[in-house]
Amino acid sequence: EQLARAEELKGNIRVFCRVRPFITNGNENDGSIVSFPTTQSYSFTFDRVFSLYSSQQDVFVEISQLVQSALDSYKVCIFACGQTGSGKTYTMMGRRSSDDEKGMIPRSLHQIFETTQALTSEGWDYSMQASMLEIYNETNQDLLLSGRSGMGPEENYSKQYNIKHDQNGNTIISDLMIEDVHSQGDVDRILRQAEQSRSVGRTQMNEQSSRSHCVFTLRIAGINKKTEQHVQGVLNLIDLAGSECLAKSGATGDRLKETQSINKSLSALGDVIFSLAKKEDHVPFRNSKLTCLLQPCLSSDSKTLMFVNVSLEASSADQTLCSLRFAARVN
Ligand code: ADP
Ligand code: MG
Repeated sequence: EQLARAEELKGNIRVFCRVRPFITNGNENDGSIVSFPTTQSYSFTFDRVFSLYSSQQDVFVEISQLVQSALDSYKVCIFACGQTGSGKTYTMMGRRSSDDEKGMIPRSLHQIFETTQALTSEGWDYSMQASMLEIYNETNQDLLLSGRSGMGPEENYSKQYNIKHDQNGNTIISDLMIEDVHSQGDVDRILRQAEQSRSVGRTQMNEQSSRSHCVFTLRIAGINKKTEQHVQGVLNLIDLAGSECLAKSGATGDRLKETQSINKSLSALGDVIFSLAKKEDHVPFRNSKLTCLLQPCLSSDSKTLMFVNVSLEASSADQTLCSLRFAARVN
């Protein structure tokens, strides 16, 4: 009973921690035990912890039900946060060249297609739409649009993408490309397109992508002609910008502006999730583009999961602590 009560208090927010394996490139050690350069010890509790030995499938098993609930009319948000290089993109997108290493986005979409196809025999008919938006320094870039038209990021950033929400809780973003999705092939094409445009015209691709939030959205509408039932759900999968702490980054100039803007939007996200978990009357959605965009999907009846990705390198200890504190706050 106590457990049930704790669950109730927690609401629909879960936090999973994932530890990235060591990367051997000659500079770092081979993964033997590392002691952190601190005399203090810290303890954090999360809903689930995935070790460096957990595979993409091990992780997906734990989120598959949550993904499935988008087909039961839930609004679902799955975030990945953590410092640059901690495995956010690996967790969300994965390596698309290898089936075993595909991330949560392709796996989720695959599962949704399998399920919706199986349900057609029961009279269900689904329509799905995908969009992919990048938020950089509080401005938005449409990844599908720039992928398609060959439009450079600069030109795309100058678009307005005004975010509005209608009475039915739908999000309308002016100028945003929304693609109808009919098959797994459509999804693969969209993901490829988005990945390409995330790197178009950028000299320091990894640097850039680690400084923007990438929001993949799948809208699902289903109608059953036999039973006259309707479903309408949304699945958001979000690869957040690297959560480098300002003090540590030593940033100046443009870089400082970026870091401030990232910190602002991450703390705004933290504030929103915290406030939802505490069931406060006023939830501060308006404080960043990201929370504004996700407002309809971050309500009391939506389901939210945050991955906090961490690496074990001694040199990352400060950043790891920073990420864990951020995640523990929303948990
Ligand atoms: P981030 O997006 O947080 O900056 P990445 O996902 O790009 O970090 O990960 C950094 C590197 O580590 C990449 O080369 C990635 O393939 C690798 N990596 C991250 N997590 C894992 C993992 N669980 N298993 C294997 N390789 C991983
Ligand atoms: Mg990344």
